[in-house]
Amino acid sequence: MLTRPVKIAVDGFSSCGKSTLARELSRKLGFIYIDSGAMYRAVTLFAIRNKLIEGDVVDETKLFSRLDEIEINFELDSDNNPLTFLNGENVEDEIRHITVSSKVSFISAIPEVRLKMVLLQRAMSENKSVVMDGRDIGTVVFPDADLKIFVTAAIDVRAQRRYDELAAKNQTVSFDTIKNNLAERDYIDQNRADSPLKKAEDAVLIDNSDLNREQQLELALSLVKKVLNEG
Ligand code: C5P
Repeated sequence: MLTRPVKIAVDGFSSCGKSTLARELSRKLGFIYIDSGAMYRAVTLFAIRNKLIEGDVVDETKLFSRLDEIEINFELDSDNNPLTFLNGENVEDEIRHITVSSKVSFISAIPEVRLKMVLLQRAMSENKSVVMDGRDIGTVVFPDADLKIFVTAAIDVRAQRRYDELAAKNQTVSFDTIKNNLAERDYIDQNRADSPLKKAEDAVLIDNSDLNREQQLELALSLVKKVLNEG
């Protein structure tokens, strides 16, 4: 029995399978799951719809003045999968679209946006055991997390997984477009001034290029057991 809320941070590169791992871990452990990337995607969708971003240029002044209008929450569907809601509307499918993926790193580089998201992420997790995935969970959101995992995989493997995922949803995007988007997001995410993507010093690295879902989950569960037994 756990006597205190446990925080597990899963960070890593774009489309490396962190969300799948974090979601499966949360199910096995009975913890809540928070997909922090979905939150940045929802802000991006708000910015696109309200014409606050043109190309890669964000109208920061206008976006700041409207940040308070953005409400994000999650609800579970009948299979217990989280759905992302933006101001009461289910935007789960729309935020995964390439139009959002191609703009999200410009929005997530803005410190005011990050501050709002980090506060929301901490509020959603208060007094709860949680698995949260993202880019800055182990470094910024939960620097004292009980376990930090940093996931990576070769870019071609990641692009192929994303391609298959989109194809299954009938979204036809070329392999090269996806690969370029991943490389661009990785670059911007790693090089932004505020909370860049990087492995926390005390994070455990998992390269899942040659691991299937089950193997990755087993590995992560063994890490969880170890820290919970120690703590
Ligand atoms: O995880 P996902 O690929 O959905 O994240 C989309 C984008 O949101 C990332 O490329 C990154 O720019 C941003 N993000 C972030 N910090 C997080 C989670 C996501 O900056 N904690």
